[in-house]
Amino acid sequence: MTATFINGTRIAEDIKTEVAVEVKTLQQQRIQPGLAVLLVGDDAASSSYVDMKARTCGKLGITSRKVVLPGSSRTEDVVDQVRQLNEDETIDGILVQLPLPGHVIKHKVLEQVDPRKDVDGFHSSNLGSLLLGHETLVACTPSGVMELLRRSGVDLAGANAVVLGRSDDVGKPQAILLMHANATVTICHSKTRRLAEVTRQADVVVAAMGRTAMVTEEYIKPGAVVIDVGTNKVSDRAAVERLFGSDDEARWREFNRRGYIWAGDVDERSVKNVASKLTSVPGGVGPMTIAILMKNTIKAARMRRGIAC
Ligand code: NAP
Repeated sequence: MTATFINGTRIAEDIKTEVAVEVKTLQQQRIQPGLAVLLVGDDAASSSYVDMKARTCGKLGITSRKVVLPGSSRTEDVVDQVRQLNEDETIDGILVQLPLPGHVIKHKVLEQVDPRKDVDGFHSSNLGSLLLGHETLVACTPSGVMELLRRSGVDLAGANAVVLGRSDDVGKPQAILLMHANATVTICHSKTRRLAEVTRQADVVVAAMGRTAMVTEEYIKPGAVVIDVGTNKVSDRAAVERLFGSDDEARWREFNRRGYIWAGDVDERSVKNVASKLTSVPGGVGPMTIAILMKNTIKAARMRRGIAC
C-alpha cells in the first residue's frame, strides 16, 4: 500500500478563504475582529512566527497587534500586559507566544487571559468546557488535526485512535476531541509499555511527541491514518540523509539554504508503505495551526458579542 498524503497546506488555504468571508460578514455588522500576539523576549524564531501570524491576519482582514515585552520582564509585568489586552475592546483574541522565558511562570500568565479571548484554548476554563463538550475555544493544533481528518473523509466513529503524547497543549485536547468524535481513544506517553503493540491496534495515529521519525512502519497497522504533529529541527546532514535519502530535492534545497530542515515524529519513508493516509512535515499539521488560529479569532469575536457561531 502507498499512502495518500493529506495536503495540510491546501486544506489550510480553504479554511483561510472561509475565514476571510466570515470577516467580511462581521465587518458588514461593523465588527472588526482583532488579534493581539504577545511576545516576551527577542527569540528570532518566536518573532518570525509572530510576524507570520500578523501577515496572515492582514491577508484575511483581521487587525493584528504585536506586543513585545523585554525578555527580562517578570511574571507580574506579563500578567499586567495580558490584563490590559483583556480590557481592550478592539482585541478579540489574545495569543501569548510560547515558549516564555524560563523565569516567567507560564500557567500564571495563561490563566490571566480572558477565557473569551483565549484563542489558543489553553485556559483551564476552556479546557474544562472542552472536556464537558461545551462550545468553546479549543487549542489550534489539535483542532487543526480534527479538520484534517474531517476534510479528508476519515470516519472516526468507532475507530481506534491512539494519541502519542499527553501534553496540555496537544495530546490531552487531541484525545478529548477524538473521543467526542466517537473514536475509542488510547493516550500514550513516555512510560507506555510495548508502544508499537499499542499503536498497531490503531485505525488512526496522532503523533505528538517531539521524537524525530520515531514512528516507523512497525508501529502502524496496514491501512491506518497517520497524522504527524511532531516538528523537530534536523541540522545534521547525515541525519537528513538517513531520514530522507539523497533524492528528496525539495528537502535538500531547504537544508542547503537554511542549514536545517523540519522533520516529524513519523518516519515518512517507511510509514507511507503501510498507512492509507499520512500527513507530511512540513505541509501537514503546521499550516493548519495558523488557519485555526484565524478561525478561533473570528469565533471569539462572535462568542464575545453573543453572535451564533
Ligand atoms: P511536549 O510538551 O514535550 O510533550 C511530548 C509528549 O510526548 C509527552 O507527553 C511525552 O511523554 C511524550 N513522549 C516523549 N517521548 C516519548 C516516547 N519515546 N514515547 C512515547 N511518548 C513520548 O510536546 P508538545 O508541546 O505536545 O509537542 C509535541 C510535538 O509537536 C513537538 O515536536 C512540537 O514541536 C510539535 N508541535 C507542533 C505544532 C504544529 O503546529 N505543527 C504545534 C504544537 C506542537 P511524558 O508526558 O511521559 O513526558
